[in-house]
Amino acid sequence: MKVSDRIAGLTGGGSDGWDLFRKAKEMKQAGLDVTELTIGEHDHRTDPSILAEMYASARDGHTGYATLPGINALRDKIAERVAERTGVTTTRENVIVTAGGQAALFAAHIATCDPGDRALFIDPYYATYPGTIRATGAIAEPILSHAEFGFQPVEADLRAAPEATSLLINSPNNPTGAVYGRETQETIARFVCDRDIWLISDEVYDTMIWEGEHLSPRTLPDMAERTLVIGSLSKSHAMTGSRLGWVVGPGEVLEHLINLTTHTTYGVPGYIQDAGLFALNQGLALEEKVAAPFRRRHNAVCGLLTTRGIPIVPSAASMYVMADIRMTGLSGEEFGALLLKKHLVAVMPGESFGQAAAGHLRIALTVDDARLMRAIETLADVYGELLRSAA
Ligand code: PMP
Repeated sequence: MKVSDRIAGLTGGGSDGWDLFRKAKEMKQAGLDVTELTIGEHDHRTDPSILAEMYASARDGHTGYATLPGINALRDKIAERVAERTGVTTTRENVIVTAGGQAALFAAHIATCDPGDRALFIDPYYATYPGTIRATGAIAEPILSHAEFGFQPVEADLRAAPEATSLLINSPNNPTGAVYGRETQETIARFVCDRDIWLISDEVYDTMIWEGEHLSPRTLPDMAERTLVIGSLSKSHAMTGSRLGWVVGPGEVLEHLINLTTHTTYGVPGYIQDAGLFALNQGLALEEKVAAPFRRRHNAVCGLLTTRGIPIVPSAASMYVMADIRMTGLSGEEFGALLLKKHLVAVMPGESFGQAAAGHLRIALTVDDARLMRAIETLADVYGELLRSAA
């Protein structure tokens, strides 16, 4: 039997970008001591206090179908958090709880794009973006950003993009760690207003900022009515497996998203939502506790790579550091494969995140400090050997 073209074409025909990650997993399962610096998964698990709340909620009976847009107390809390951090009036009518940021990204594109419409996104990008857009039937259209501008999108590249229905941005950025400054966000806002298109702003790393501050484009003039913000507790609260995220946007759109949820996931389990509410109620203290190891490792890894003469993408946020290995003459894929095969260190090739990040490596800061620094020393040794043999 033939499956649909849409699902068969989800990865765009080529690799989905996760080949090296899967290879590393296989090697680990075969008993090899691989250091995995691949996906954005914390080495610390969800805080025990959140798990205790989850268990108590389930034990008290919150195991049935949960209220669909999300329980009111959680929607209120998300709205309050967004309003506090952005100054934009936000109520529960602006919030829908989703199964993680991933389901929120899908929902936002379904809500804004019809099949055949073009949905723009910035390259380099989080690896699922094109597939998520294709899953809705829209056409995924990358706009390149460039290493020389710190991977911040610039006006000329935005203006050169074809006609489209939406633009997806991600600041703080995965994979580059770039945080879009006010000027970039204003350029983006002008572009979407001039074109009269939607902005989908993926802000799942908003608590992992090491320099400067996060500016949500929803705060800019005339933007609240055309912006859908994607949020999640995965990164901020080490709750990746709980699948708890949200979309914040105009009430009229949110009503449609409730319909979508009814016909797709049918919501997020009540005990997960109660745990999420508890997590958010812990305020900044818990967010800072979760972020602290990444801040420390970011500084240490950037310091070591720089000392060893490896160019890095200037980054101000997130769980990743990007190294520029173009001087070796190898692609990110080739360098990554060599590092894994010979030295049992797995990083993600920049090519997994699009064309703009080719010749780069994304290093996830997701193992303990000592092991991480050993892996970086190994990477630097390999880099040095390649440069010498290329000379
Ligand atoms: N957006 C970005 C930029 C991400 O890096 C991720 C996960 N790595 C997600 C969205 C999805 O996160 P989740 O579904 O776990 O909330």
